[in-house]
Amino acid sequence: MNNFINEDKIFDILEQAQSPSTQRVETIINKSLELKGLDPVESAILLNCEEKVILDRVFETAKQIKDSIYGNRLVLFAPLYLSDRCVNNCLYCGFRRENLRAETRILNVHEIREETRALISQGHKRLLIVAAEDTGVNIDYLQDAIKTVYDTKEGNGGIRRVNINVAPMEVIDFKRLKNTGIGTYQSFQETYHRETYKQMHTSGPKSDYLKRLYACDLAQRAGIDDIGIGALFGLYNFKFEVLALLYHAMHLEKEFGVGPHTISVPRIEPADGSDIASYPPCPVSDSDLKKIIAVLRLAVPYTGIILSTRENAVLRNELIYLGVSQISAGSKTLPGSYSSNKKADGQFSISDERSLSDVIEEIATRGFIPSFCTSCYRTGRTGESFMDLAKPGEIKDFCQPNALLTFEEYLLDYNPKLAGKMKDLISSEISKISDPKVRQIASGKMKSLKQGKRDLYF
Ligand code: SAM
Ligand code: SF4
Repeated sequence: MNNFINEDKIFDILEQAQSPSTQRVETIINKSLELKGLDPVESAILLNCEEKVILDRVFETAKQIKDSIYGNRLVLFAPLYLSDRCVNNCLYCGFRRENLRAETRILNVHEIREETRALISQGHKRLLIVAAEDTGVNIDYLQDAIKTVYDTKEGNGGIRRVNINVAPMEVIDFKRLKNTGIGTYQSFQETYHRETYKQMHTSGPKSDYLKRLYACDLAQRAGIDDIGIGALFGLYNFKFEVLALLYHAMHLEKEFGVGPHTISVPRIEPADGSDIASYPPCPVSDSDLKKIIAVLRLAVPYTGIILSTRENAVLRNELIYLGVSQISAGSKTLPGSYSSNKKADGQFSISDERSLSDVIEEIATRGFIPSFCTSCYRTGRTGESFMDLAKPGEIKDFCQPNALLTFEEYLLDYNPKLAGKMKDLISSEISKISDPKVRQIASGKMKSLKQGKRDLYF
């Protein structure tokens, strides 16, 4: 395993990219509008922009690209934490081994069912399973957990897509994971800077930088072709991390013909029991985060960007315009806390504590269509086949009606109060579907939903 993150090269690029001319920035912005992405040098130039007028241009462009690829859709999900007992000692995390707590747990099948029920009752259809690393959280356990989530039904609802963020495993176990019917496998490198990585991960399997770096390769080799990467912003210089994320994406594209399905941009939050003297070690301001998201949107236009409830509601409302395509809502980061409604510290503190229905009302009022769509992976549109449809822009023909159908389903089953207010928005969106045949079928499916049919999609 060779380290495809060449630190010297990244530092050189960042150094060379200082003070570019306005004309050079303009050329890069125009190139990004062709939706073919940017290389690390071009991205570094944008990351180094500090002037307000230029930054505003970058933000405007990100918004334009987001609109042309993702329209006004925003996918919603919630994390489901299975365990908080960890063999690793990541200094920033409340679950780390040396943070001795009276009680840690690994949810059993019954508890997983109760948590899933609570999430379904809010209206969720897409979950991200999250677990700390422990011998008890092995592939047998994960198989049972995922089966339990998919098998749990409540009223008209059920979970239709489980994504997963758990410790890397061997190819043989990744193959079994794939067979459970997961969507995306996520693994965050946390920091791509090797020395910082070493300082932050003092013991346990995760202390091996290269093994972590190749986690997504192993998942791909096992046939999991929707991969999520990410960095924990605040551990090291954010510009370095963005370029490293791009090199990681390029590596996956070169090796497997398809880059990451998603990039996550978590910022480090204070965590009870973490071992970091002052928070965060390398501060990332709100405007830095805006820049990170906007530059990623320009650099990898077809890769989903995920934003969590680590960020507060006001900032999230700004960031959704800049290129974010998926957000979590109503999240809890302590195992068992959806069904017990316990208000306790989880893995880290959450800044956006709004319920799913509050988030939905807010984004819909802003003209976004909340989407619970799970159609792509259920119809085999994953990995390269997804990108083959996404890149020429054909995916939009499915996504918009699917988003509307899942939103309508949510309103009918979980939020009749909001349904009345959303009638006009939904009919106006249906009337905007450009293909008359798709428009007609979508209207028919809408009617069927009202008559009690469920889970209709293109
Ligand atoms: N244990 C597995 C791992 O570390 O890959 C998977 C789950 S871990 C709970 C999920 C992510 O939480 C980590 O990859 C890390 O980026 C994030 N995280 C940990 N501590 C955090 C903190 N204090 N603030 C924000 N995010 C944090
Ligand atoms: Fe364990 Fe993950 Fe937390 Fe590290 S970040 S201590 S591996 S749960």
